[in-house]
Amino acid sequence: MPSRFSSLLLQWYDKARRDLPWRGEEDPYKIWLSEVMLQQTQVETVIPYYIKWVERFPSIESVALATQDELLKFWEGLGYYSRCRNFHKACKIVASKHGGKVPAEWETFLSFPGVGEYTAAAVLSIAFHQPYSVIDGNVKRVMARLLAFSEIVEKGTALFEEKLDKWLNQDRPGDFNQAMMELGSQICRRNEPRCFECPVESFCKAKAEGNPAVYPNIPKKKERPHKTIVAGIIWNDGKFLIQKRPDAGLLGGLWEFPGGKVENGEALDNTLVREIREETGLIVEPGNKVGAVDHAYTHFSITLHLYHCKLSKPLKDNGAFDKHRWIQPEERSQFAFPGANHKLFQILESQTWTDHE
Ligand code: SF4
Repeated sequence: MPSRFSSLLLQWYDKARRDLPWRGEEDPYKIWLSEVMLQQTQVETVIPYYIKWVERFPSIESVALATQDELLKFWEGLGYYSRCRNFHKACKIVASKHGGKVPAEWETFLSFPGVGEYTAAAVLSIAFHQPYSVIDGNVKRVMARLLAFSEIVEKGTALFEEKLDKWLNQDRPGDFNQAMMELGSQICRRNEPRCFECPVESFCKAKAEGNPAVYPNIPKKKERPHKTIVAGIIWNDGKFLIQKRPDAGLLGGLWEFPGGKVENGEALDNTLVREIREETGLIVEPGNKVGAVDHAYTHFSITLHLYHCKLSKPLKDNGAFDKHRWIQPEERSQFAFPGANHKLFQILESQTWTDHE
């Protein structure tokens, strides 16, 4: 017998749910992809990426056969690039060990790279109708309000899970989970909960108290540190050098201009020469400044300065060493770059690229 809570929630969801490209999808691969893309990312941002991706990669096998560079190009701008690299690895495992079929077993699915309990619960409930409840940021906010949970919201996870497991609709667990997330994003909004439209208002302790927006209790974020980075566009014979970031870590697998962080009090041109020597072994002479851009990441922000550079000594070989490429400006569309590098490309476009002499 479905709980009263789930009946009210699903009645509302059946009428009010947004029409999204992955809604109603039955292919577990596409459901999984949408859940990976939606982590930490707004629905509106994900939609065009999802559509382009499934056009080019319609199956697990097509992802497994693609190169990481190609996949990252399709992910470029979506952020949190480890999601893409891990999804690639996981699809290769599914293709080689599971005949291309997404396994429906919790332990097996959870063992894949990049799959945590949230993703496993979402995919197994939506694609295979298994009774796992899902807790994301939206659901935590709704639960904190429904239960008037006044402690720091992260401490409530076990309690929220226990309650959700009782309310979960066993016949439609995937819809129940999507309805909870939809309620959080559309009705029980962070700053202005629309209690007058809420299907489960009669269950809500925060509403009864009269000021639901005081929940959830989230500790204040620390101030974001700021870093100054300097990079070089090193020219040789009409081409410039790009390098690939290590797979592990922020922006892993993306390409960028070589350079690095300015240490305390260091002059920009000294940093540039030092970083390029450390990263590439090349000795360069900094020339004219291209410009500087600001960019914010989740945990820090940067100002990135770019200088034209000349090689102090001609290259001994053709300079094609591991993780580095010499490319012409028009070839950059074949590589995935971080957002800050794209801002520099815009400046370079306005300067005709090579006006450094
Ligand atoms: S009644 Fe208001 S605060 Fe409570 S769950 Fe609904 S929208 Fe959120």
